[in-house]
Amino acid sequence: MTAIPPGSTIGILGSGQLGRMLAVAAAQLGYRCHIYAPESGPACDVAAAFTQGDYNDATSLAAFAKAVDIVTYEFENVDPRGIAHLAPIAPVRPGSRALDISRERPTEKGFVRDQGGTTAPFREVTSLAGLEAAVAEIGVPSILKTSMFGYDGKGQARLASPDDATAAWETVGGQPSVLESFVTFAHEFSIMLVRGLDGATVHYPAPLNVHRDGILATSTIPAPALVQTQVEAAVALTTKLAHALDYVGVLTCEFFATADGPVFNEMAPRVHNSGHWTIEGAVTSQFENHIRAICGLPLGSTALTGASVEMDNLIGDEADQWPALLAEGDAHLHLYGKHEARPGRKMGHVTRVWR
Ligand code: AMP
Repeated sequence: MTAIPPGSTIGILGSGQLGRMLAVAAAQLGYRCHIYAPESGPACDVAAAFTQGDYNDATSLAAFAKAVDIVTYEFENVDPRGIAHLAPIAPVRPGSRALDISRERPTEKGFVRDQGGTTAPFREVTSLAGLEAAVAEIGVPSILKTSMFGYDGKGQARLASPDDATAAWETVGGQPSVLESFVTFAHEFSIMLVRGLDGATVHYPAPLNVHRDGILATSTIPAPALVQTQVEAAVALTTKLAHALDYVGVLTCEFFATADGPVFNEMAPRVHNSGHWTIEGAVTSQFENHIRAICGLPLGSTALTGASVEMDNLIGDEADQWPALLAEGDAHLHLYGKHEARPGRKMGHVTRVWR
């Protein structure tokens, strides 16, 4: 196992806030970061270099791969053909297998079931007639989600009655989708697992995640007792998934805590919003541990730095609260430097750690 030492250059596909926080953690360890994305974004402000290019531009990707020592990514919708241009030139971690699995919901859910996980009952849907048939099988309430490119509740429609099928099909733009039965859950939580290049794993305490309008609003640690009783099974499944994918880096799985145990919702082959609290709330942040993992360095401690932690997302104009948040003195404010505060846009977050 050859480590990629500090002083090397890490290439990051994607220029969003996750790339920004990865680049800050990498810089702290003495690495340079080179961002590759179709558009400039929050990560570019804190990186050593930026290449503007499409994810399927073979020439531009090859030049980028030659300029870096390793490539990672901050979002899961990278075109696998793009990765194919990079991989012969520079190692790509977490790797293309995780991307192939997590790009499409049906593939991901099927994989998780094969590994022994529980998902909500679902059916793949490619037409309105197919949706109506799926509603007859799955029942209502249910949720229709586009198979690809869905995030923060986008590309989703809820069905309270079979009569909602036509409107739901319009909401997802008639794209290939999955119909999922609505899970009755007490809580939502996530597992952030880190797998090193040598296959060693560590995981963070599981946060309780509360969503508003399909977007993460808060992550709180410790999670309630019901979640605590389900963490062991959820970590076991996430570990199994990571080993099966020969995964390197931070792998996040989101779960519903139900009366019958944890139900897998979705995975992200990357650092995750529900782990932002780890910057101040854990000994080693998810961003630093991702960098350590992909560079073949020893993983850092995931222990809490306080008795409890809360992370609140600042969405849209909530970021205007920054003067009051700074005035608190011990709240940790993170702003992503986005120029325009559109509704539903993640502008920053604030973390509070209680000793
Ligand atoms: P997702 O993009 O799949 O993570 O969905 C966004 C949010 O919608 C989740 O965090 C849940 O709050 C809710 N949700 C998604 N799928 C289901 C489901 N099958 N049952 C109940 N709530 C769901």
